[in-house]
Amino acid sequence: MTIVDLVQEIKRGLLDLLFPPRCVSCREIGSLLCTKCRDEFELVEPPLCPHCGRPMTSDRLCSLCRREPLQIDGIRSVAYFEGTLREVIHHFKYYNKQDLAIPLGKLMGDYWEKNPLPAEIIVPVPLHVDRLRERGYNQAALLAREFGRSTGLPISENSLVRVRATRPQVELSVQERKENVCDAFRCSSAELKDRRVLLIDDVCTTGATLEACSIALRQADVRSVWALTLARAR
Ligand SMILES: [Zn+2]
Ligand SMILES: [Zn+2]
Repeated sequence: MTIVDLVQEIKRGLLDLLFPPRCVSCREIGSLLCTKCRDEFELVEPPLCPHCGRPMTSDRLCSLCRREPLQIDGIRSVAYFEGTLREVIHHFKYYNKQDLAIPLGKLMGDYWEKNPLPAEIIVPVPLHVDRLRERGYNQAALLAREFGRSTGLPISENSLVRVRATRPQVELSVQERKENVCDAFRCSSAELKDRRVLLIDDVCTTGATLEACSIALRQADVRSVWALTLARAR
């Protein structure tokens, strides 16, 4: 633990004493995410499509991956983007509950310990600078830092950048999502050359954003690109 970590820990401890945290979902006093609510997350269980990680009835390639596979080595997710987890992610992203990254990133770390993916270095999906300025933090980077702490993997936060502001993916169709993020990312750093990269993001819906990141990373000659997201749409 570094001095900065220690100071943060002490600061957090004092703040918790003065203003005890409440669970963002059920409001119980004690922590931002109580164990009862965390246990409500519905985990993504196998069998999965080995490529995109979509739940299947057998572990064969899904029809989408047979037809038009995403240009990424593989995607895995911890739990479904529904119910309590959806609510928790909303607080994490839009209500400045940055400390939620601690339990959520740990959850991703626990997943990775049980389901290891090829990874030498972790890269969070970047926000565009304008969005970063607006929100004040990149939720994917916060998750990646906690994930790195929990797994011991190094993190590269600045090698991949979002060079073009994109519309929120939420209201777009599958095709529009692809076009929206196409060419939105650049990787100009030599730091990732020949390395096995693990992308980290909060939510995966169609995989279009992860694919666009993967294409940019491949142009920078990385060895492989897998992605791990906290949540995924069903
Ligand atoms: Zn709760
Ligand atoms: Zn698939």
